[in-house]
Amino acid sequence: MRRSGTTCVVTAMALTLALILSSCGGPEVVRRPEVTKPAVPVVTPGVPLDRPPVVRVLILDARNNVRVKATTSFHIGGELEVSEGTRLEESGDFTVRCAQELVRFQRGGEAILDAPVVSIVPHGRGHIYINGRAYRGGFIFRPVHGKVITINVLEIDDYLKGVLPAEIGYLKSDQFEAYRVQAIASRSYALSKLEEKKGEMYDLQATIMDQVYKGVNGEDPEASRAVDETRGRVALWRGEPVRAYYSACCGGHTADIRICWPWKDSYPYLHGGRDASERGGSNSFCSRSPHFRWRVHWSGNTLERMLKKTLPGELKIRRDAVGSLTDLKQLGTSPDGRITSIKIVTTHGTYRIDGDRIRWVLKPDPNSNAILKSTLFKMSVKRARGKVVSVNLVGGGNGHGVGMCQAGAVRMAEFGYSAEEILGHYYPGIVIVRFY
Ligand SMILES: [Zn+2]
Repeated sequence: MRRSGTTCVVTAMALTLALILSSCGGPEVVRRPEVTKPAVPVVTPGVPLDRPPVVRVLILDARNNVRVKATTSFHIGGELEVSEGTRLEESGDFTVRCAQELVRFQRGGEAILDAPVVSIVPHGRGHIYINGRAYRGGFIFRPVHGKVITINVLEIDDYLKGVLPAEIGYLKSDQFEAYRVQAIASRSYALSKLEEKKGEMYDLQATIMDQVYKGVNGEDPEASRAVDETRGRVALWRGEPVRAYYSACCGGHTADIRICWPWKDSYPYLHGGRDASERGGSNSFCSRSPHFRWRVHWSGNTLERMLKKTLPGELKIRRDAVGSLTDLKQLGTSPDGRITSIKIVTTHGTYRIDGDRIRWVLKPDPNSNAILKSTLFKMSVKRARGKVVSVNLVGGGNGHGVGMCQAGAVRMAEFGYSAEEILGHYYPGIVIVRFY
């Protein structure tokens, strides 16, 4: 019995990524609020997958040691695709480290397996803890430059349960529809990465680089219900899962990806739009957010100190290449009001920063790592005797602003919009299908 269980579980974990994107479900009707521009959905009819796709999520970057605590028995072997040669271990405490280009999985001082790649797959119901945090699914440990990286391999909906509360917070009952919106958006985003990453070691990072994922500890019953209720629902554009970017608050107008990230692939559904109902007057859906409007003030000296910290890393220049700050200018504004570029003039050099990277250079506080909330701001600079005396920003929103505005989505949920309408508002032209 155990043997067949192994094969089943290991085979499930080994679903090839080619399969994941090979078919999609039939379209459902998406009702859009009046705010969206008309667009013709193009959907490839197909047969839904019979089970959810599997995602590989990097949960720990290179570490000397990884602690593994298993509350269930588990199978251990080399690559997950290999079902032969796996063996069953009982629950317990283990460590993983790198030993001469191999991964060593050990209990106490005793090596259980040395292999180029070590995979473990839980056999029973309990969870496996990695450095004290519980996760669903199995794991792959790989060596990278003498250290070990840890990849969680699990069905996409189990992954989403560990994403939703971290990404949109804990919502009230009248905001529940926004959980469903976030579930479909996050599922679509994750699926959009699978094809792109299939030759690489993992599909997604468990940080803001992709979506924040906290495993079982980060789950919430209501958010999980939304994942279950939207099981298999995916937003598509021209038959492909939507690269569903989202951010906390758009400040009243979502951003155009071509200006925010000129170096990334652009899609028409990410060109930005007013975050309001045409029927509802001028009020933005996100106007109640505490981030909707904000101010930042620097003295010339504080800003200069901060630029000496941020510019060298951003532009890969020497620290002494940034001299005394003599001027700061904005070079352009996008139609939605975001600053497209700034010019920083110092006694040793003049530097230009484009798009969203402005937020990493103009940090509000030189003693904190927090970046500027957004590039949606108006800037006033006081100058005297060839120096910058002070700079004031009046801004709006929090985050890059591309795609869905989460604060607006929550407000639309309170107004009674459906998940499909909300997604159609923020990603015009998409359709929603049952993918599995
Ligand atoms: Zn908004």
